[in-house]
Amino acid sequence: MKLTFWGAVGTVTGSMHEVGVNGARYLFDCGLYQGRRREAAERNSNFPFRGAHIEAVILSHAHLDHSGNLPTLVKSGFSGPIYATPATADLCAPMLRDSAHIQEKDSEFVNKRHMRRKALDPGATDGAVPPLYGAEDAEATIPLFQAVPEDTDHEVAPGVSYRAYDAGHILGSSSVVLTDRTKGREVRLAFSGDVGRVGLPITRDPEPLPAADYLIIESTYGGRLHKETGLVLNKLANIINRTCQRGGKIIVPSFAIGRTQQLVLALHELFEAQRIPNIPIFVDSPLAVAATEIFRKHTELYDDETNQFVKRGEDPFAFKRLRYVQDVAESKALNDLRGPFIVISASGMCEAGRILHHLRNSIENPRNTVLITGFQAENTLGRKLVDKLPEVSIFGEPMRLRAEVETLNELSGHADQRELLEWMKPFASGVKRVFVVHGEPAQSEAFKQAVQERYKLDVVIPVRGQSFDLN
Ligand SMILES: [Zn+2]
Repeated sequence: MKLTFWGAVGTVTGSMHEVGVNGARYLFDCGLYQGRRREAAERNSNFPFRGAHIEAVILSHAHLDHSGNLPTLVKSGFSGPIYATPATADLCAPMLRDSAHIQEKDSEFVNKRHMRRKALDPGATDGAVPPLYGAEDAEATIPLFQAVPEDTDHEVAPGVSYRAYDAGHILGSSSVVLTDRTKGREVRLAFSGDVGRVGLPITRDPEPLPAADYLIIESTYGGRLHKETGLVLNKLANIINRTCQRGGKIIVPSFAIGRTQQLVLALHELFEAQRIPNIPIFVDSPLAVAATEIFRKHTELYDDETNQFVKRGEDPFAFKRLRYVQDVAESKALNDLRGPFIVISASGMCEAGRILHHLRNSIENPRNTVLITGFQAENTLGRKLVDKLPEVSIFGEPMRLRAEVETLNELSGHADQRELLEWMKPFASGVKRVFVVHGEPAQSEAFKQAVQERYKLDVVIPVRGQSFDLN
């Protein structure tokens, strides 16, 4: 077996690892690289291989940084199966359609800006930017999904099979173990995907993995320890109450899949306990609306707490003051609505989508609060807000950041250092080599040291393009 790292190395986005087995090439994930625009466009549009040469993709979960570049792969000739759990396959359909729409809008925006510049300076270079992929590419990708349930061996070629285990990160998320029996003896390669946490709302706890010879593991929070999740409701209530007293709005950038549903559940609980004022709450994201429908369908994946709602005959994702906003006119109307109210919108790292309009309308007013609820990659607008830069650019216009910025890392869907080490415990002793990926350099380095110290294992932080023979 030969393993080559192409993405989520030295960074958290663009997850993509190539596995060569018995002459065939497979991919673990095919995610979007997110960061500086030009670098991202370059990285996402150029694969280091021809799409047609890839036999199949095994997808860990629906998040964009793991699945979002599949349409580009299809555009470059890939026509094999995309294996995913049933919930992941369901979630990817609206997600990839939405992503194509964002790509199209994004290139439209860049091209318009370019035309304006060219009008002012006729000497400016030419060159319209095509979208990374469009709606037709997303539509060509969706039929390639093959739903394979968790905890089931699935043969991808004679002597090569994989099995998915619940990773407890978002609905349908999985860790996978690929087994190669083509050389007479078994070689087992485990891929963590994104590892969730014990006690996260909605999802079940991460499932333990069986023995493996090699492990590829994420390290988003490989050098950090999370705060107690139990305090999250208190903190959320405080932020909301404080902002309401000022008459402000609470703008919540949130991943449409996973984080939004967690927030809705948390707000549902606070609202029922009358711990927050009776203010309107909007989920303004067509993708979040579509994703919530899929969450409603997959009750078999809920943890006990969320199942309580179902047993009582209630919908965990609906309550009186909550409104899901789908059409554009209604979304625009929110711009004129005076606070206090809460709006949850995507994209989660503030890179695109309706959240940008809400931020543009809110961040210059100190009454308002921007509530950051998820990991923000380097160079994204979300990261600049977390870092409280005095000025940020939205739609190319400079804006002063005067709103309060709060972060709620307690909802993180990623295991921290201690939790990752615990997750490895059942199978760590048999692992010949650990590959640490999906982290910024300081996080990966800290995690490498922690694994070496605790389990005395051989640990590598691969660089992009690096290959390893696994025997
Ligand atoms: Zn993820």
